[in-house]
Amino acid sequence: MPVVTGHETSGIVVSVGDAVQNLSIGDKVTADNAELCGHCYHCQRGELLFCENFAAHGVHCRSKVIQSHAAASVVQCFWLTVAI
Ligand SMILES: [Zn+2]
Repeated sequence: MPVVTGHETSGIVVSVGDAVQNLSIGDKVTADNAELCGHCYHCQRGELLFCENFAAHGVHCRSKVIQSHAAASVVQCFWLTVAI
């Protein structure tokens, strides 16, 4: 099976969507690489790691995260309090 390396990530926010209120350009963040559907039985119950459509960037699917720019959902971003 091909594996695209690069699933642990951190970076600096360079843009945010219009609806984003709790992240700002310049914030230092890490991002959960899990991609969840949000609609399946398990997602609706909050059992996110059992998502029927679970995929992990840099492990299962399409995009790696070791690159100059990567997109992440705001709910997957967590502020870093240490220097990166
Ligand atoms: Zn799901």
